[in-house]
Amino acid sequence: MPQEDTLQDNLLASPKLLLKIDKLRERNIGKHVPLPQLVVVGDQSSGKSSLLESLTGIPFPRDVGLCTRYATQITQRRDNSTHVNITIIPGPRSTDEHKSHVETYYGSALSGDDLRAKFPAILQEVNARMGIRLSSSAKGGTVFSEDILKIEICGPKEDYLTVIDVPGIFRNPTEGVTTKQDIDMVRNMVTEYIRDNRTIILAVLPCNIDIANQEILTLAEEYDQKGERTLGILTKPDLVLEDSSKNAICSIVENKRKQLTLGYYVVRGRGADQDDSGYESREQMFNEDPWRRLDKGRVGVRALKAKLGELLGDMARREFPKLRKDIGEMLSRAEKERDGLGPSRGNDTEQRIFLSHIADKFQELVKASLEARYYHDPAFETSLHLKLATLMAFLAENFSREFEVKAAYRNFENRNSDDDYDGIDENVKNEMNLLQVLENSSVCPSSSSAASEAVRMLESATQELDPGEFPELHDIICDEYEVGYPEDGIMDWITNLYVRSRGMELGHYSDAVQASAWKEQSKKWPVMSRVFASRAIMIIQRFIANALSIVCTDSALQGTLWSCIQEEVLQRYRRATCFLEYLLSVEREFNPYTLNKHFSKARQEALADRAADHILSTLPGSMQDAGDNASITIGQIRSSTKDKSNIQDVAEQLHDGLSSYYDVARKRFVDNVWAYVVQSHLLFGPNTPLKVFTQDWVIGLNAEQLEAIAGESSSVKEQRANLARKIEDLKEAKKILQF
Ligand code: GDP
Ligand code: MG
Repeated sequence: MPQEDTLQDNLLASPKLLLKIDKLRERNIGKHVPLPQLVVVGDQSSGKSSLLESLTGIPFPRDVGLCTRYATQITQRRDNSTHVNITIIPGPRSTDEHKSHVETYYGSALSGDDLRAKFPAILQEVNARMGIRLSSSAKGGTVFSEDILKIEICGPKEDYLTVIDVPGIFRNPTEGVTTKQDIDMVRNMVTEYIRDNRTIILAVLPCNIDIANQEILTLAEEYDQKGERTLGILTKPDLVLEDSSKNAICSIVENKRKQLTLGYYVVRGRGADQDDSGYESREQMFNEDPWRRLDKGRVGVRALKAKLGELLGDMARREFPKLRKDIGEMLSRAEKERDGLGPSRGNDTEQRIFLSHIADKFQELVKASLEARYYHDPAFETSLHLKLATLMAFLAENFSREFEVKAAYRNFENRNSDDDYDGIDENVKNEMNLLQVLENSSVCPSSSSAASEAVRMLESATQELDPGEFPELHDIICDEYEVGYPEDGIMDWITNLYVRSRGMELGHYSDAVQASAWKEQSKKWPVMSRVFASRAIMIIQRFIANALSIVCTDSALQGTLWSCIQEEVLQRYRRATCFLEYLLSVEREFNPYTLNKHFSKARQEALADRAADHILSTLPGSMQDAGDNASITIGQIRSSTKDKSNIQDVAEQLHDGLSSYYDVARKRFVDNVWAYVVQSHLLFGPNTPLKVFTQDWVIGLNAEQLEAIAGESSSVKEQRANLARKIEDLKEAKKILQF
């Protein structure tokens, strides 16, 4: 295009402010917040593209039949070298496929002249990329597109001006070309632009139609009620032939009707069949009557451009405070988003550091949890599942109580209430759990007290675990658990056992009889202890999952980490359950034996009790009342034991021996389960499941494994890069807007 056709001299007012806007646009801020911009709107063929051409020097196709099918953004930018970049911004509803198809388009030109030569070919390519159907006979494609064609013109003399050309509004569908939907789509596109407060609306109205009834004015008024940003641009004045019509146009430009606050401008564009003579020669006509009488500031493209600069400047002044605020907000949002992504982990060193940091935090959490230092992390406040020490103590206490009350298959004969004797008495039964203890105590008698509430929560967290929630543990834990209280009738049973299976021992029972009695009496031990271990394992499994989610917020990474450590964690649970089986077999498969002196003490006491009870029962009623204080003679002792049968005698011995042994063995077993299975294998030992995910584990990973676990997906990398760019842009924008 001939250079004189464009207004290259700096006509715009407030160049400093416009320079700022332009700098912001350069920083891509326009992508994030709307910047002051000009939008050309009007009916089809009203002269929009021609106006743009006059303003920017871009030779738009002015074929009458070829209306604008998509928005075109023309940005002029001052730069040392002259060049033109052409890109396509995909519409908001684009599919990924379409997006990449249009985004890969790039056109360029060296200068305005070069662009002019290339423009038809460029448009053809752009239309094809967007999928625009040009002829009515063509199949597929769309008539209009929401994609935006972006033309950026840089040069040492360019003005800081961005203008957007949108498709013209039309009211009637054309058979085979445009549909009712197309009408709505175009209308929406136009409204999208003009509703924005930072848009200056250039309402283009051809002089040769009835201006008062132009829909575009109504539409502009709807969104710019004060009329602060709508400018009427009258085009095609050369097509008005009658004097009366010319006068009517002049009075509109003089804004006598006050229809628009900012008033009207009249410009003459290039006609379809006109050559490329400059705007100056075209505008000669304004020196003739009646145009001559018009204020020169309202006539011609030069005057219009000056006004536009002024308006943009005003708008910038008005909008900058809000822009500053918007940019500040966006900056903090973007920074937050970036922090959420965590540090960059592009190579194996970064990945190792990253993972090692997470492992360290995990172990810190484990340690705090085991030591009940719950002030260590606020997460303890909200998640009971993290309080391992408390949960395990509660679980163990419940296990010990329940085991004491229920684990014997039959009740031993209750002969006295000595503390060493652990038959079931009602108190113990009533205080089977901590809640009952609290309720029975005077400290907190009310069942609704805060302490009771806490206990209730602990109970549900440790006792009501659903194995279905842990499918990965299915071959490790057991879930059937219905253990009743011990049965009665132990003496009967023991006598029967002895009668059925005694050998030829005289006056005492064999080891075999004792062993089978012991096995019978301890037959609930396996299931009860396995359920206890299963619960401990589920609590730990849940803890690990929770703790991981706290130390690692990236849910994908969390999942990967979990699956990487899972197998080893399960292996360690298995070791714990194997040890439990070992303890069970030691207790139950061997002949009962103990070095504990409490055993013989208890047995002798039982013997003495039995003798004393028997003697007492043979005394006359008055002496029985004296109980332990009754005085008897040695003779009475001698005669009292004579009538006992051999079978009864041996059965009693067996019972007393079993009872004394059971007591010692139960305490030993419960303690061992706690110490070896839970403390050593599950919680505190060197090889617990809690110690799988450690810094050492991370150090042991090779580069490939590190990449698989901590490597960033390309989308995260891209997201991080985009955010970094955006943050830098916004920071720069903040600086630009400061003064
Ligand atoms: P758009 O559809 O609104 O973009 O309108 P165009 O800019 O494509 O213009 C439609 C037709 O009107 C084209 O043939 C232009 O050459 C012609 N045109 C535009 N402005 C003027 C003008 O001021 N005078 C004359 N005679 N024709 C014009
Ligand atoms: Mg057009």
